[in-house]
Amino acid sequence: MAYLSDPKETIAVLQRYHFMFQKKFGQNFLIDGHVLSKIVDAAGVTKEDVVLEIGPGIGTMTQVLCESAKEVVAVEIDKNLIPILKEDTCKDYDNLTVINEDVLKLDIAAVAREHGGKPLKVVANLPYYITTPIIMGLLEGGAPVDNITVMVQKEVAERMQAGPGSKDYGALSLAVQYYAEAYIAAFVPQNCFMPRPNVGSAVIRLTLRDKPPVTVKSTEMLFAVIRAAFAQRRKTLSNGLGNSPEVPCTKEEAIAILTGLGFSENVRGETLTLAQFAQIADAMA
Ligand code: SAM
Repeated sequence: MAYLSDPKETIAVLQRYHFMFQKKFGQNFLIDGHVLSKIVDAAGVTKEDVVLEIGPGIGTMTQVLCESAKEVVAVEIDKNLIPILKEDTCKDYDNLTVINEDVLKLDIAAVAREHGGKPLKVVANLPYYITTPIIMGLLEGGAPVDNITVMVQKEVAERMQAGPGSKDYGALSLAVQYYAEAYIAAFVPQNCFMPRPNVGSAVIRLTLRDKPPVTVKSTEMLFAVIRAAFAQRRKTLSNGLGNSPEVPCTKEEAIAILTGLGFSENVRGETLTLAQFAQIADAMA
């Protein structure tokens, strides 16, 4: 069988099916075997695992996953790619299920249940236009997931992994780190894709935590405070809280709560740890 990590094979498949790339689906196919191995290794895929692949494209990574995992469930929105996967590039794998659906509408808990009930490993070269909804859906959705190892835009990977004080630190960093431990496994240059994207990429692994690193009275309040803190980055936290429709307090009440907890009234969200946000959210709740 022909492996698609060879760019000549990718071109041959695209020509065989007169495939037209659809920009709206974020289609940038991988054409580098080293990068494929890096992703699959970072995910720690073994013959015991059920893998959910988001956006298999023409099946470049799907081939490697089918050879490394027990089972692979690949969900692809573009109907033009389904015959390529089923009748051509991945036709020899009997451990592959291809689903033609929008991953944002997929019942991922049902996928896990139907494939043995073990936590899934989610592996993907993600469509960048919906990176955040896909990742937050996986983290917050409650489906059993062991880890999420995905290619994303470099800046997004850096935001997910950033800590307090860094320019990349924000609501996404805190949301991701509440649910998972994040580490960037590799940076990937533009020439590893066809067509070449306009942005740099990185592989990030998010290992889901058994329980969050902080305990709060209300996670809704925790995330409302975090969103308020970063909605207006240049403003103080008390301003952000006072202006937020989600947090029921005035700026003066926010100052009283913050100073009561020992923070300066001019404190900014970008300097606070998750534990400090938890403290503030509990006081607000
Ligand atoms: N995995 C392939 C690779 O590495 O060569 C393709 C990756 S490409 C960056 C993203 C893939 O996600 C495309 O095949 C695209 O059609 C698919 N996709 C885009 N939006 C999707 C959605 N909402 N649900 C499922 N698949 C989607």
